[in-house]
Amino acid sequence: MSNSTTTGSHAGSPGHTGPLPAHVDVLVVGAGFAGLATAIGLDEDGRDFLVVDKGDSVGGTWRDNTYPGAACDVPSQLYSFSFAPNNWSRSFSAQPEIKAYLDGVAERSGVLDRFRFATTVDHAEWDASVARWKVRTSAGELTADVLVSGAGGLSEPKLPDIEGIDAFGGEIFHSARWNHDVDLAGKRIAVIGTGASAIQIVPELQKVAGHLDVYQRTAPWVMPRHDRTYPAFERLALRTVPGLQKLYRTAIYWGRETYVPAFTVAPDIAKPAELLAKANIRKAIDDPELRRKVTPDFKFGCKRVLISNAYYPALAADNTELVTDRIARITPTGVVTADGTEREIDVLVVATGFHTTDQPIAHHIVGREGRTLADTWAESGMQAYRGTTIAGFPNLFQVVGPNTGLGHSSMVFIIESQVAYIRDALRVMAHNSYAAIEPRPDAQAEWNHSLHKRMGRTVWSTGGCASWYLDEHGRNTTLWPRSTFNFRLGLSRFDTRAYRVTGPVPEPTTPSGPTPGTPTEREVVPA
Ligand code: NAP
Repeated sequence: MSNSTTTGSHAGSPGHTGPLPAHVDVLVVGAGFAGLATAIGLDEDGRDFLVVDKGDSVGGTWRDNTYPGAACDVPSQLYSFSFAPNNWSRSFSAQPEIKAYLDGVAERSGVLDRFRFATTVDHAEWDASVARWKVRTSAGELTADVLVSGAGGLSEPKLPDIEGIDAFGGEIFHSARWNHDVDLAGKRIAVIGTGASAIQIVPELQKVAGHLDVYQRTAPWVMPRHDRTYPAFERLALRTVPGLQKLYRTAIYWGRETYVPAFTVAPDIAKPAELLAKANIRKAIDDPELRRKVTPDFKFGCKRVLISNAYYPALAADNTELVTDRIARITPTGVVTADGTEREIDVLVVATGFHTTDQPIAHHIVGREGRTLADTWAESGMQAYRGTTIAGFPNLFQVVGPNTGLGHSSMVFIIESQVAYIRDALRVMAHNSYAAIEPRPDAQAEWNHSLHKRMGRTVWSTGGCASWYLDEHGRNTTLWPRSTFNFRLGLSRFDTRAYRVTGPVPEPTTPSGPTPGTPTEREVVPA
């Protein structure tokens, strides 16, 4: 399996190559939308911080996913920072434009000298005696008062556990690790998966492949994609007319919020959308058998709703076969399905998603009680307070943490809400000289109880599908079951009352004073 990270251009985000400092006030892990927004916010507040990222530039998932056809299915006017408007070329931007946008924002914001690329966090452990995180990275060790993880839920490719896959003799790569060196023209290609990535890849491969096999386990709902290039006059107006871009953004935002009831309380509202999606099938596919195969058998919205005008036509093309028989094994030369048929191929593209509910970073973070985040979550599933802070893990903030994902709108809105909360938390900590904060277990439990009570009514729970939203216990630990403005409202101020706070670390000066380096543990009842 090719494991090389194929990244986009790193022009515009060179980062810094010097040695790591011994200490920073805030260490941020990840340089995608989340890490970059955090860095810019911390910089505005004049904080001492460092961002580390395993890749060679900013962009996160928009750096790593360079597969043909990669584009965003949320309109760019909304899928961008509120504080950094851009003159987008089209409504749903492709990966190169989004990557260039992030490079540009990083460069213009002047924070890149505090980014260290090609640096992975191997271990981060809370040291209560000094109220700091001790962090080991591939580039050396450092300490940090506060750790912010912006490592993302869609960063670690999930490979299918299929017999024989390791012995495949042709070219094989994951959608998020595309091997651009492989010439695909005229080749026999197979794609495993029919999720958001696959439905963008398949039309591009169909154009160049000699033959294309698409292995589908579950048929997704696919709606028409209302994408368009902005004509020159519209781009000019968006650039020059005061408030126009903001108006577009606001209209898209509220338009998207109208989807929330269909996902969260009354899935039957989405019946007309199902009819539209079925019309999308009929428009592109004549063969009744193929129509039957691509028609989903679960409620609209239960899995992520996809948008494409090119996917169904590509499946209907002469050089494509949609295979719905279960994959039994992979041989050095092809894919064998349960009925015993072997289809020979030259290239295998694995578009099987990411480790979302078992995030790799959780294995590397050790909290107050000496347990990793992964162990802490092993039985309960991923849990946090307001999707951002975690009991037992002082001074740890997770951007895009548990139950912050969306099925309908822009994650950038969620990210900005969380960054505002983190900035407020740091202000409160500095103002009160708190050495450490962490959510009280009862506050976290109450938050999760009410969240999961709501979750029970959502289409993700009742829609009759399995999805990456659910963990191994069947709990939805990834999505936010309410409107995004409700999420933002809840994070608009750091709510100290929900936290256990630890007083300042005493100065290690007087021999008769408190033991140097021992924080005064106290429950502070905020005014
Ligand atoms: P995904 O949605 O998890 O889809 C994975 C696909 O692989 C599914 O069709 C799944 O089938 C199939 N699969 C997994 N294991 C398999 C196995 N062992 N055998 C056969 N099939 C298998 O992953 P993704 O498409 O990479 O998308 C992940 C998320 O990334 C999206 O939901 C979205 O949030 C984001 N994304 C967004 C965009 C965009 O904005 N345009 C583009 C790409 C990705 P089942 O359905 O049966 O599980």
